[in-house]
Amino acid sequence: MAQDRSTSDRRAAGRDFDVDLDDVLAEEDSGAEQGLFDDLLSGKPIFDNKEVLRPSYTPHELPHRNEQINKMATILVAALRGETPSNILIYGKTGTGKTASAKFVSQELERTSEKYDVPCKVEYINCEVTDTQYRVLAQLANTFIEKNQEYIEDRLAELTELARAARDDPNVLEGTAFDAVSQIEMEKADLESDKAEMEPVPMTGWPTDRVYNTFFDAVDYVERVAVIMLDEIDKLVEKSGDDTLYNLSRMNSSLDNSRVSIIGISNDLKFTDFLDPRVKSSLGEEEIVFPPYDANQLRDILQHRAETAFKPDALSEDVIPLCAAFAAQEHGDARRALDLLRTAGELSERDKAEEVTEDHVRKAQDKIELDRVVEVVRTLPTQSKLVLYAIILLEKHGVRNVNTGEVYNIYKRLCDEIEADVLTQRRVTDLISELDMLGIVNAVVVSKGRYGRTKEISLSVPIDETEAVLQADSRIGDVDDIAPFVQARFDT
Ligand code: ADP
Ligand code: MG
Repeated sequence: MAQDRSTSDRRAAGRDFDVDLDDVLAEEDSGAEQGLFDDLLSGKPIFDNKEVLRPSYTPHELPHRNEQINKMATILVAALRGETPSNILIYGKTGTGKTASAKFVSQELERTSEKYDVPCKVEYINCEVTDTQYRVLAQLANTFIEKNQEYIEDRLAELTELARAARDDPNVLEGTAFDAVSQIEMEKADLESDKAEMEPVPMTGWPTDRVYNTFFDAVDYVERVAVIMLDEIDKLVEKSGDDTLYNLSRMNSSLDNSRVSIIGISNDLKFTDFLDPRVKSSLGEEEIVFPPYDANQLRDILQHRAETAFKPDALSEDVIPLCAAFAAQEHGDARRALDLLRTAGELSERDKAEEVTEDHVRKAQDKIELDRVVEVVRTLPTQSKLVLYAIILLEKHGVRNVNTGEVYNIYKRLCDEIEADVLTQRRVTDLISELDMLGIVNAVVVSKGRYGRTKEISLSVPIDETEAVLQADSRIGDVDDIAPFVQARFDT
């Protein structure tokens, strides 16, 4: 999971458990005689520029993505000719370079449009953050209002200059759209009043159609091609349905001056199944797939990044191949590969090692995996947490081969204790399957002969850390004495 160390540390500090780096380091020497920082500074520096390993860094070169980048450029070049580019749908699992490639292409597009003075604007929206129709439209409206205001400022300055020159010498108006200074003044007054009318959309409170109309007017104020890039579009559709996409995809038929083109980026390959067929066909005019990277490609990506990130000779030979191999198992995720490399470097720094070794990579893998589990468990819905807690309680009390019925009994008692709704056993079975899919438990179906089938459930994650995360949930933390619950299972 992509997250920088500082946030994970902060999160850990706010709770009763600690998944700090120190835990995964076998040996920790204490530098009591030295000052707090002397000790830390004494090691040989490993990193040259750690920032380039962070998810926020946008690389200028993206090995193994030429085909996808070229295809995007081939479609978007239409914008530079003043035509409307086809809409594009980009698919691929996380960490396959979709965001990085799309941002790279949009930077290039805007740069080129400035160079040739073609009005083209790319607006990037991360729909995981901006996740409702209102907010997407408001962000778009406000961006274009800002652009329009800049445009008006520039135009006013130009006209003021022209009027001044024309007062000295009326001949300068020859070949312009104006016959007299008074006409220039009239146009200036129009621009001033347009500017005064442009009211930014507030964060909340307007009816959606007003927000939409504001965006519509703003984008259509001058001639331009607006490329709207909706990253994590599946999150938007999941949360708020496809109204936004429906509205955006049919704008072009009513716009007079401008054209809108949409690039949707999705981690979920099946998300179009949930779309209105009209939206689906409009949005998917062009589709580009980002396949997972294999270990060799990941190795290239890491090698490339490592050259700027680390001091020369800071990495032992096997480090990059091992990071690549681990991340290749993780569906070819480049983000994971970079995280591993960065974390391994940080661990070796803490270790005051001469270089980053294979061992640091393995410890980094454990740390990242633990962080992932902590994050997944922390964000589970309460009902799933209760089910998981029941499984943990049973395991902690030495019950082997826990079955669904046993989990259900403990779960019910936990619900009573914290006054939560009790779900049916059927639903709890579903929640167990979800936990299985998340890799938190392992549930195997076993046949009980003529008594039918049941599931045997075991925990696949470290029990103490997981329990600590659950107990950090205020509702579950309120359950104090747990032993009686587990005892009670013998009563039923
Ligand atoms: P996605 O959007 O598909 O989840 P990102 O574009 O965010 O993936 O990529 C994840 C991380 O991997 C980012 O830090 C990105 O810079 C890096 N990355 C992905 N593909 C490449 C590549 N081909 N070359 C260099 N870095 C890459
Ligand atoms: Mg992305």
